[in-house]
Amino acid sequence: QPAPQAKPAERPLLPQVKSIIAVASGKGGVGKSTTSTNLALALAGMGLKVGLFDADIYGPSMPRMLGISGQPQSPDGETLLPMENHGIKCMSIGFLVREEDPIIWRGPMVMGALNQLLRDVEWGELDIMVIDMPPGTGDTQLSISQNLPLTGAVIVSTPQDIALLDARKGLNMFRKVDVPVLGLIENMSYYVCPKCGDEAHIFGHGGAKAEAARLSAEFLGEVPLDIAIRETSDAGTPIVASQPDSPHAKAYQAIAAKV
Ligand code: ADP
Repeated sequence: QPAPQAKPAERPLLPQVKSIIAVASGKGGVGKSTTSTNLALALAGMGLKVGLFDADIYGPSMPRMLGISGQPQSPDGETLLPMENHGIKCMSIGFLVREEDPIIWRGPMVMGALNQLLRDVEWGELDIMVIDMPPGTGDTQLSISQNLPLTGAVIVSTPQDIALLDARKGLNMFRKVDVPVLGLIENMSYYVCPKCGDEAHIFGHGGAKAEAARLSAEFLGEVPLDIAIRETSDAGTPIVASQPDSPHAKAYQAIAAKV
């Protein structure tokens, strides 16, 4: 017997999306958005239809990182079409507010805005959606993890002890709500001097790998601190899109192949 038609408000979120991966970090500034973007681009490079959803509502960075300006179209006045560049679709609150306007919403308003964005965007069929989560492990992050049919989560951390401590909280949050943790990524693993090629382990290379082992989570890979990664992101041409054959792009591609 067919199930009765669900009311619009009860429709499952994102029915046309085959899998949803959340990219999270215990704290801000560790490179979560940079990782989400390059990971999404690497997945698209594998031939998948990819959407990138910027849930980092207090600091949306996707418009800049993907080099997209302008506002999403709404052909029927109800739904929004995602923006597109470098072969991926994207939606961000950053497309709907001016960059200099601070967002001062409280948690429930943030959840309302995120839910509305998730319901009202016509993504079309996607093989995979990458969600750039807000940093940290507060109520908003918990609600997203509970409300969305997440396939799994990856956690980005620098090798520093404090960042790892926060990453551990993130991992425990996902485990508490039964979202599989696909693994840890170490960002800003080490620094390669552009002049002499010397590797400097500024934040203590290898911390995330050791932590992953301790937490019985997979270690997905490491990405060094490199000016090219920052410059390409700032220019709206992330390294995986603009220099897909570079060693750093290869690092993201190797991680994408594992998720
Ligand atoms: P988060 O989303 O965790 O707040 P971002 O992805 O916005 O962090 O990164 C913070 C800053 O660090 C940005 O300017 C970004 O370009 C830079 N950054 C991130 N990862 C790297 C890296 N591996 N090498 C160089 N710069 C990086």
